[in-house]
Amino acid sequence: MRHLGTACFIVLSYLTGQRPGETLSLRSGCCPDPGAGRPLIYGHVFKTARDEDGNHLSRGQMREVPWVAIPPAMRAVRVLERMVPADSLLFGATAHDFPHHRTYHAALNRPTMNRRIEDFISWASALALRLGRPHEVIPDDPHGAIGTERFRRTLAWHIARRPGGLVALAIQYGHMRTAVSAGYAARSRDGIHDLLDIETARATADTLATLHADLDAGGGVSGPAARRAIHAAAQAPSFAGSVRSTRQARAILRNPTLAVHDNPHTFLMCVYNRDKALCHRLGTSDTPTLDRCVSACANIARTDRHAAQLRAEAEHLEKQAASEMVPEPLADRLRHRADNLRDLADQHHRNRIANQETTT
Ligand code: SF4
Repeated sequence: MRHLGTACFIVLSYLTGQRPGETLSLRSGCCPDPGAGRPLIYGHVFKTARDEDGNHLSRGQMREVPWVAIPPAMRAVRVLERMVPADSLLFGATAHDFPHHRTYHAALNRPTMNRRIEDFISWASALALRLGRPHEVIPDDPHGAIGTERFRRTLAWHIARRPGGLVALAIQYGHMRTAVSAGYAARSRDGIHDLLDIETARATADTLATLHADLDAGGGVSGPAARRAIHAAAQAPSFAGSVRSTRQARAILRNPTLAVHDNPHTFLMCVYNRDKALCHRLGTSDTPTLDRCVSACANIARTDRHAAQLRAEAEHLEKQAASEMVPEPLADRLRHRADNLRDLADQHHRNRIANQETTT
C-alpha cells in the first residue's frame, strides 16, 4: 500500500506538472467525474477559504483554476480516494502510515516522499528481477536521488523533445502539451510555460547544433524544407549552449528562421512555417503539432541520420514480419511499412543537398 501511494504520487506529479507541494495537498473529491470532457483536478486553498456567510473554512476550499489532467492522473486520484477516509487529504500522513496508523494532522511531507520514491525504485527493481524481467529494472540515476522536484522538468523535457513519444501507454506528449499548458493558462506565474519554453528552445538549439556539425562533416539534407534547414543550421554557433533563462529561450522561439523541430518519431525534421503547415488546418498556431505530422507537408526536411533511422526501422519491421509468431496479414502490413520507409530513405539519398551546394 505504501508503494501504491508513492506510485500515485509519481503519476500525479509527472502527468500534471504540479509542484510537489500542490500534489501532496490534494484532497479527495479534487477530480470530479468529467463526463465526456477532460478530467480537471482542483487543488485546495486554505487561507482564503470561506463559507457563504464569510466564516473561515479550516478544511479548505477547491481553488478556482484547475489542472487539466489525463485519464491516468484521474485514476491515481481514484486509487488514493480508496486509501484515505472521505473528505480528507489524498496523502494524509495518518492514512499513509500503513504499519502503525499513528495520528498526524497533515499530509506527508517532501522529505518523506523523497525517501518513499527511493524505496519504490528499489522495490520495483527487486520485483522486476524476481519476475525474470531484468530489462525492467530501474537503472541508477547518475544525478542522484530522483526526489519530488524532477517530475515537472522531466515532463517539460519530454513534451518539448518527444512529441510523438509515449509517456504512459498510449498518451502522446503532443496532447500533453495542450493538456498541461491549459491547466496553467490562467496562472502565468506558475511556471510550466517557462519550463516548456526553455526546454523547447534547448531542443531547437541542440537540433540546429547537431545539423550544423553534420553538415560540416559532409552530411546532407533532403525534403521541401531542406534549404531553410541548412540556413537555420548556419546560425547555430551563435547561440549554442546559451539557453539558460526564459528571456533567452523566448528570443530563440520568436525567431521564425530558427523554428526547427526534430521529430524522431516520424524520422524527420519540421522546419516550421505556419503558412505551409498541414498539421493544423483549422486555426493557426505558433508551434507545429508534431504528433499529427502530415507526410506531404512542405515543412519537412530529412538528414542522413533520419535516413539511417528509416533503414534501421525498416530492418526491424522485416525481422518482426519474419517471425513465425506473427500472423500473415500483420506480417504483410509490416513488410509494406518497411518498403515505404526504405523508399523514403532512398528518396533522401537521391535528393539530398549538402552545405556547399546551397552556396553555389
Ligand atoms: S505537418 Fe508540417 S508543420 Fe506540421 S509537424 Fe509536420 S512538418 Fe511540421
